[in-house]
Amino acid sequence: MAHRVTLIPGDGIGPELTEATRRVLEATGVDFDWDVREAGADVMEQYGGNPLPDQVLDAIRETGVALKGPITTPIGGGFRSVNVALRKELDLYAQIRPCKTYEGVRTRFESVDLVVVRENTEDLYAGIEYEQGSAEAQELIDWIKSKGGKLAHEDAGISVKPISVSGTRRIVQFAFDYARRNGRRKVTAVHKANIMKFSDGLFLRVAQEVAAENDDIEFDDRIVDNMCMQLVQRTDEYDVLVLPNLYGDVVSDLCAGMVGGLGLTPGANFGEGIAIFEPTHGSAPKYAGQNKANPMAEMLSGVLMLHHLDEHDAAENLEHAIADVIGEGRSVTYDMKPRRDDPTAVGTSEVADAIIEKLGARVA
Ligand code: NAD
Repeated sequence: MAHRVTLIPGDGIGPELTEATRRVLEATGVDFDWDVREAGADVMEQYGGNPLPDQVLDAIRETGVALKGPITTPIGGGFRSVNVALRKELDLYAQIRPCKTYEGVRTRFESVDLVVVRENTEDLYAGIEYEQGSAEAQELIDWIKSKGGKLAHEDAGISVKPISVSGTRRIVQFAFDYARRNGRRKVTAVHKANIMKFSDGLFLRVAQEVAAENDDIEFDDRIVDNMCMQLVQRTDEYDVLVLPNLYGDVVSDLCAGMVGGLGLTPGANFGEGIAIFEPTHGSAPKYAGQNKANPMAEMLSGVLMLHHLDEHDAAENLEHAIADVIGEGRSVTYDMKPRRDDPTAVGTSEVADAIIEKLGARVA
């Protein structure tokens, strides 16, 4: 049976990357029934100014699985970010970013193999903010003072950091389930519970409770600043990290940098019964239509999708084929060459050709 998957090409470099990825996915021998849906600025006029038409959301709800290219968020003009809207509308509460080094990639770190699981709905990203000087900020400051709270300076803007029991429980349980499904050995909860007792402290306490219910997998915790140092000094000791929204954002970029940058970092967003696979990088509009951008992060997102679809052999074949091409260093885009102006750099579609050739050898 073919897997029905919603394919959102996106804009900027998105269409080229998703096309290259569709080709390598099909070359694994797995059958797909692609449900192609457009979203973003280019189609919003057709849908009454809405860059995320309802039919796209309905399609994802129906298939439960989407492969997505990046989508541009134009600055200003009241255009809401399709990426944020997707996360909100579909309650995609877990963001996954695996960070793995492949031989041949220029990086200061060897044999990194980490998975960052980031809570995606609350924390300082909840959007509860009061502008400095506003009546609301003053009212809140007065209320805080009436409860015995002290501010170092009263001319403050205020962002609220909600972290809930239910939000923490579901993200930590997700991290354990992900670890189990993917043969990982340990989950580390990352927090600043020593300072923020009622938000991060709650996160740690609930994480420990969930860990006790999942004792087939090792568990520990780290304070976020110490975690950053340990990640670069004792990388091997860590496996799956689970973090509240803000620390997850920061630490996932740290880990991406450790494995060679955004061009190589896949990603996925999960909600209940829904998974959307997409690279970490954006739509790099300056390279749009030039057959220049590196498709590997999009393809590695495809590898994650194959695992999600229980096509583990195909996933491993594709990952090995990508690793072979990286290792040889010949058929790679400009960003993976020793110098960015290297004339031997190939284009997006030639990377796909080289991977398909490797897959041919592997699948046959
Ligand atoms: P970006 O990731 O698009 O680009 C930053 C730079 O990284 C590029 O100029 C390019 O030099 C390089 N780069 C990125 N991807 C590459 C690739 N595959 N191959 C080679 N080089 C690559 O980030 P940005 O410029 O901050 O954002 C551009 C647009 O993308 C914005 O509108 C932003 O909102 C959007 N964006 C979308 C998503 C998403 O769809 N999930 C994520 C991030 C940013």
